[in-house]
Amino acid sequence: VKGETLADTVRIVGSYVDLVVLRHPAAGAARWAARLVSGPVINAGDGSHEHPTQTLCDLYALRRERGHLAGLFVVLYGDLRFGRTTHSLARALVRMGVTILAVADAELELPDFVVRDLLRNPAYGSKWVTLDDLEDVFHRRDVRALLVAPKVALDAVGEGAGFGLRDRAVDAIYVTRLQKERGAGGTGRGLPILDHRFLTSPPFRETVVLHPLPRVKEIAPEVDTNPRAAYFRQAAWGVPIRMALLLWAAGAVDLPRPLHALPAPEPVFGASCGNPSCIVNHPGEMAPQEVGTRPDDVPRCLWCEEETTLRAP
Ligand SMILES: [Zn+2]
Repeated sequence: VKGETLADTVRIVGSYVDLVVLRHPAAGAARWAARLVSGPVINAGDGSHEHPTQTLCDLYALRRERGHLAGLFVVLYGDLRFGRTTHSLARALVRMGVTILAVADAELELPDFVVRDLLRNPAYGSKWVTLDDLEDVFHRRDVRALLVAPKVALDAVGEGAGFGLRDRAVDAIYVTRLQKERGAGGTGRGLPILDHRFLTSPPFRETVVLHPLPRVKEIAPEVDTNPRAAYFRQAAWGVPIRMALLLWAAGAVDLPRPLHALPAPEPVFGASCGNPSCIVNHPGEMAPQEVGTRPDDVPRCLWCEEETTLRAP
């Protein structure tokens, strides 16, 4: 790298190869690259935005461990704001009929753009709940969590009420690390680490533990020998999953296409994205401002999907 732009790099590399796999610090970088090269581009992580290939590995691991996906109850745990893997995973889980409880460190909740996307599914709704009956696990009474579930199941839960997690079995907990390189600060006020005691509390007695790795301190090493610690198996299954993805993208195997494509967004002319981590604000890239809106949704940047950083026309 000698200071050239992403655009020039992918134009050159894209002319040499059959497909491009891109990891980049700017949100929307893979979408930008896909516009500049004629072959397939696989998003291997774009800033704090998305990590769809990790999600394929996560879904496969979850299905291997639990036998199915529909109807599962999964806790997302840790940094859900800067941890891009949970942004992609939450969307996929809701598509698969999974109920999610998003338990985040303070100020690291799932971003609005992800939650809005989850609620675009007409069968799903969300409620903030408290987990005060888990005080002995979390060592605090004020832990709030976002429950994203099929509406029929949500009706039984009061807004802001205690969720009664003690009466439910959590099928899997997906733990993420604090993303220091993406701006998450280590406040020391965070959630407790996952240890043996955590996993023997009533709702977590049968819970499978997933983590996209690398781990920092959020899972105690004593958990590694627990047969429910699935994170190393999850990492190993990433190899066949990514092999299949590469073969599919290269046209060597035929896999089912998505059943439902989203409607094309209506452009919002004149609005611009103020997110400093977005590809449109990445120096030298020349990615054009593109803001759009879909039915029953708010305008957002089409690169990073942020709605809170938009500047009005
Ligand atoms: Zn943007």
